[in-house]
Amino acid sequence: MTSEATYTAWFEQLGRGDVPTVGGKNASLGEMVRTLGEKGVSVPGGFATLASAYRTFVRDNDLTPLIASAMTDWQKGVIDLAEAGTMIRKAFLRGSWPGPIAAEILEFYAQLSRRYGVEATDVAVRSSATAEDLPDASFAGQQETFLNIRGPDALLDACRRCFASLFTDRAISYRQTKGFDHLQVALSIGVQKMVRSDLAGSGVMFSIDTETGFDKVVLIDAAWGLGETVVQGQVDPDQYTVFKPLLDDAALKPILDKKRGAKAIKMIYDSTGSRPVRQVPTSRAERDAFVLADGEILRLARWARDIERHYGCPMDMEWAKDGETGELFIVQARPETVQSRRSLTEVRTYSITGKGPVAVKGLAIGEAVLTGRVKVIESARDIADFPDGAILVTSTTDPDWVPIMKRAAAIVTDHGGRTSHAAIVSRELGLPAIVGTGDATHRLHDGQDVTVSCAEGDQGFVYEGIGAFTVDTTTLEDLPPTRTEVMLNLGNPAAAFRWAKLPADGVGLARMEFVISNAIKVHPVALTRFDAVTDEDARKAIVALTRGYADKPAYFVEALARGLSRIAAAFHPKPVIIRMSDFKTNEYAGLIGGAAFEPHEENPMIGFRGASRYYSDRYRDGFALECRAIRMLREEIGLTNVVIMIPFCRSLGEADRVLQVLAENGLERGRNGLQVYVMCEIPSNVILAPAFAERFDGFSIGSNDLTQLTLGVDRDAGDLAALFDEEDPAVKWMIGHVIEAARIAGAKIGLCGQAPSDRPDFAGFLVDCGIDSVSVTPDSFVAVKKSIAAAEKKRRETGS
Ligand code: PEP
Ligand code: MG
Repeated sequence: MTSEATYTAWFEQLGRGDVPTVGGKNASLGEMVRTLGEKGVSVPGGFATLASAYRTFVRDNDLTPLIASAMTDWQKGVIDLAEAGTMIRKAFLRGSWPGPIAAEILEFYAQLSRRYGVEATDVAVRSSATAEDLPDASFAGQQETFLNIRGPDALLDACRRCFASLFTDRAISYRQTKGFDHLQVALSIGVQKMVRSDLAGSGVMFSIDTETGFDKVVLIDAAWGLGETVVQGQVDPDQYTVFKPLLDDAALKPILDKKRGAKAIKMIYDSTGSRPVRQVPTSRAERDAFVLADGEILRLARWARDIERHYGCPMDMEWAKDGETGELFIVQARPETVQSRRSLTEVRTYSITGKGPVAVKGLAIGEAVLTGRVKVIESARDIADFPDGAILVTSTTDPDWVPIMKRAAAIVTDHGGRTSHAAIVSRELGLPAIVGTGDATHRLHDGQDVTVSCAEGDQGFVYEGIGAFTVDTTTLEDLPPTRTEVMLNLGNPAAAFRWAKLPADGVGLARMEFVISNAIKVHPVALTRFDAVTDEDARKAIVALTRGYADKPAYFVEALARGLSRIAAAFHPKPVIIRMSDFKTNEYAGLIGGAAFEPHEENPMIGFRGASRYYSDRYRDGFALECRAIRMLREEIGLTNVVIMIPFCRSLGEADRVLQVLAENGLERGRNGLQVYVMCEIPSNVILAPAFAERFDGFSIGSNDLTQLTLGVDRDAGDLAALFDEEDPAVKWMIGHVIEAARIAGAKIGLCGQAPSDRPDFAGFLVDCGIDSVSVTPDSFVAVKKSIAAAEKKRRETGS
């Protein structure tokens, strides 16, 4: 650091090494202004006071004896925390500014104002404790921030309040727990030009996925107005997920997910003049719109990646958009401390095995399940009423709640998004939390027994009563390598990142229909032929779901592409085989608006399903939407590792017709490296394997249907379960035969049915047949990988 001044320094004079004098927050602002400007990262200008300014203020106002005695009295129990805190803060607020310090602050402020061409510019006054934001002390927000401060008097007043906020009750108790000496810490003030995000929006972002630690995405939260509402968790923000590895290709838009949040309120400048800022409700138009355009989302994501690269670790950042100029800014950056410290080699899997009715639902934070008793608390002051180990149910949380949160077993809030205070602190504490439920404080009551589940993807559920669940812990280290590829069957986009740490060779089966029923819910033809939907409820539901999209089909295309993109991104650049929809007619009819377009069938399992639909007039336009989603995935988002697969293809004639329809929809086999696989799940596929192999790049054996159709056993008939046996010699003959045929034809061959997931030994048989890959459910991955390694070893040893 170089400075002519004694007590203050411009951000551009500061860097990472200045944490002892200006604290983590201001040092990192300086570091970014100095080093990342050339990368295009914009940070609003400003300056910081040095620790020496704080120390001189304390010395000249003779505050040390008072702080020392108040802290000692509190530690001895003579006075309580609130009394000690109030006493010290009042003393700070009564203190007078040592002349040279005030002069420097005001001189820097005058220069800053000139830089922005005004006499007295609006600034944010932020606290940066010299022990705050260190990697092992990450509870940010212990001290205060003052927004929209203007003019010398208001500035000096806000600065004094910043000093005083080093002794808020929560900051004192935090230091005490972390073992910091109350007389050794100091506070540096950051005075930063305000970004007029009250006229636009702002939020936070992380350079990794905060739930799973998946490090190839940037998560951006965005709400209208000043950023405090997002940081404090008072709004449910928009959330965007961006895939980092494809950010450099200007022709692509690697946005995996765009979720629109409710954004009910915003913080703006108070034009009445009585206070600097105030909160107001947002308009309907604001709630319906996304805060950021795609170009802005991508620009922020590139900055997040550059900032992460510069610091060499995952980062947690705040951003703001200026509504007057349209410019984006980074206003804070610090290392992310939760996921980056978690083990990447251990997988814990919770599964719910018994549950009551859903009491409330919201966003799941963490992956755990637990049972316990509810305690609804309205105010952090009621801490004495909170029994240790209860499930905390509250409207929202802020740093005052941390002492209660530490004693909770799980946390459920009415408001807040994935980056709200409740979510961040729960992750740090390793507690499951369900945030943004809307009405948990109304629906749940004290003493109620409940089960909190964060193990079912994005959504978290509170179930009534004490449910049953299991926990499995697996260590990934030392898993043996295998020649046979072991892939995953994945259908839940929300859980995809969680499995990315498994050493899988890609995804062998992503069932498109799972994504349609979870994330889209509407029959595609009900969107292309909306006029033919007569059911009023279905019409209403469709209008609500498709609001904000260019047209109704666009909803299906975008939601499907984005859902699948999470699965494709989790294993990029390894292959991810997406199977085109394979609902049966009864299942299609159950989708919103579906009943009007599906025939009634006695035997849907062998009815109008798979390939036969794609070229039929009944479904052709629905299939076109599926194809558009695949094109968006490969061509716009850029995930060219996506392979497509055709299910239930009965004959060579069908194969030709489907390949023709794919080509008409821009998905010609071989173009831009597009591979097309076919399921081998009907005896005809085995019998005519050499001819199918000429038409497709590979096969995936669907042992579920192949067993059903070889043995003539309805796979869903419980009474016949004993007859449904993939190890029957007839089924094994079929499998062995098609593997052989594919090998001779030079086509790839894998298996994605349930058999090896349930019976890892079955994989040994497949290895002996010489299969290329086996695709299994994630929870059985480790067991299957081991048994394949053992089978391969045995083959080597016996020389077979
Ligand atoms: C199969 O038939 O084995 C298969 C994987 O497909 P599905 O279970 O979806 O019919
Ligand atoms: Mg099948």
